Amino acid sequence: MASGATGVWFRKGLRLHDNAALVKAVAEGTPVVPFFILDPWFDRSKVGVNRYNFLLQSLADLDDQLRKEHKSRLLVLRGKPDEVLRELFEGKGPFKLTKLFWEKDSEPYARRRDAFAEGLAKEMNVYTESFVGHTLLDLDATVGRNGFKPPISMKSIQTIVQTAGPIMPPLPVPKIPPLDTDGFDVPKIEEFYKDEAPSSTNNFPGGEREALRRLAATCADVDFVCKFEKPKTSSTGAQGKPWEPSTTGLSPYLKFGCISVRMAWHEIDKCIRGRSHSQPPQSLHGQILFREMFYVLGTCVPNFDKQDNNPMCKPIPWGSDEKLLAAWQDGMTGYPFIDALMRQLRQTGWMHHLGRHAVACFLTRGDLWQSWTAGRDVFDKLLLDSDWAVNNGNWLWLAGVAPFSAPYFRVYDPCPGPKSSLNAEQTGEFVRHFVPELKAMPAKYIYKPWTAPLADQKKAGCIVGKDYPAPIVDHASSRDANLNRFKAGLDALKGGVMPEKFGDIKDDPGAMKTTFAKGGKGGKGKGAGKGPSVLDALKSAGSGKGGKRANESRPAEGSGGEATSHTVEDSPPKPKRRWQRSLGDDKVKES
Ligand SMILES: Cc1cc2nc3c(=O)[nH]c(=O)nc-3n(C[C@H](O)[C@H](O)[C@H](O)COP(=O)(O)OP(=O)(O)OC[C@H]3O[C@@H](n4cnc5c(N)ncnc54)[C@H](O)[C@@H]3O)c2cc1C
Repeated sequence: MASGATGVWFRKGLRLHDNAALVKAVAEGTPVVPFFILDPWFDRSKVGVNRYNFLLQSLADLDDQLRKEHKSRLLVLRGKPDEVLRELFEGKGPFKLTKLFWEKDSEPYARRRDAFAEGLAKEMNVYTESFVGHTLLDLDATVGRNGFKPPISMKSIQTIVQTAGPIMPPLPVPKIPPLDTDGFDVPKIEEFYKDEAPSSTNNFPGGEREALRRLAATCADVDFVCKFEKPKTSSTGAQGKPWEPSTTGLSPYLKFGCISVRMAWHEIDKCIRGRSHSQPPQSLHGQILFREMFYVLGTCVPNFDKQDNNPMCKPIPWGSDEKLLAAWQDGMTGYPFIDALMRQLRQTGWMHHLGRHAVACFLTRGDLWQSWTAGRDVFDKLLLDSDWAVNNGNWLWLAGVAPFSAPYFRVYDPCPGPKSSLNAEQTGEFVRHFVPELKAMPAKYIYKPWTAPLADQKKAGCIVGKDYPAPIVDHASSRDANLNRFKAGLDALKGGVMPEKFGDIKDDPGAMKTTFAKGGKGGKGKGAGKGPSVLDALKSAGSGKGGKRANESRPAEGSGGEATSHTVEDSPPKPKRRWQRSLGDDKVKES
């Protein structure tokens, strides 16, 4: 390879379409070297076998397309990015880079990695440029804009996206010059996970071509797109195929950028234009906007992934019990719905959004009183679509600790009946598929097998407490105890000295009335003295002046667009309280 090549560094953005870095590299007219660095940072302690396999499949797909359609290829290099890049800049590898382009990545590790790469390149006289493509918005520009307020509702993220101007149409695939180099092939999964195999029934093969196929199949069903309302989709998959998502199943492809979010946005737009269609937050555009909201929050909120010093998190004194956590993550809680979902996660790397609601609520404020960060870590490792901003944002939401959370006292029943907002199928096929111990349990006992008479348990070949665990906690009493603990946690915030993140505020106004209205100057932390801080912005977002408080007089939205008809209340839990809500025509009773 001659010297003076232009590198395209793939990290996420594992696609040829709508790839600004690739387009720019091709326009340079020098040889173009597409490469990926297998970074030891993402080792098996952080990444489950299914996601790693998805990544390798996506790389193989990219490589195959480059070879077949462009006589080019993808080089897979190995090592710490700073060391690999240094060698590439020095020309020690099969080529010497003088220019390097990539798609921006806003995750904290990626920011550190890329800042180092930029510094190194500058030092070594290599030209670099990075491009927005993983999100609709230019995140840094968005949060740096005058008057920016962290979005904590669908309305606020919609305003931010609209203010940023029209969403750019996706870029076509450029004509990529040929590249002839040996070695550096895409490795096989067995090399990294010797004693673990990826899911044998792989419903989510990695890669751009599968992503495009999936998006096309979704959009071919115009009715599905136009009528899409997230709260009406089923937590237990498609009928007869419990492993099949009832939603688009695009999340792993969006996570790795196998599909461009701009492409997804515009294709959905083509479907709904000129037709009557659902609206955000429930619609598909609404789902993409939630993704965007969490990316913006992940960019502007300090310590977004932590309980402490995180302005979006009330510090609740969660417990820490390894046995409870292990039972939850292994799908051994004795609650078949929860266990089936957690085993689905481990086996396939995916779980429906309402399923994620149920297990997250169960682990935290609902039943087990464990920290959301512990659950977040399990999701982070096992999900195919594990995404730093989206995962943290949703866990904060479900734990009831964020200003955008649903009321903490609305707890899901882990044994969902036909009217539950979890939309769980009632024949038992979902549980039987993922919890084979219960495969012969009659449908009427499927979500509460411990209530089956012993004779029925024997007939089903499953004695509760022997062949399948008895419930790890009693839901009703745990729920009541936890709500009281949560309330006490909030009261403690009221009574004592408020954490610094609350500024001058003397009282915590409650889980769903996080107004920050009375505060004076912002916190003393990072960003103080550099214009309006996140805290200032939060205060003004909730300030009573000239408008309603952020959380007042609007229906509560569950993440994913749950519209609820009850008004948001801030009262302490009353014993045996039941919350009624209606969801379309579906009358829902949450325990
Ligand atoms: C506790 C918890 C943790 C979660 N962790 C993740 C995660 O790590 N990565 C992830 O992509 N999603 C996460 N979600 C959000 C959501 O569950 C998934 O995005 C969704 O289930 C993926 O399925 P889908 O592609 O069929 O979604 P669809 O309903 O078809 O939505 C299309 C796309 O919109 C985006 N989206 C949908 N719902 C949300 C949401 N609530 N927040 C942000 N973006 C959304 C996703 O990119 C999704 O692919 C989490 C939800 C919860 C409750």
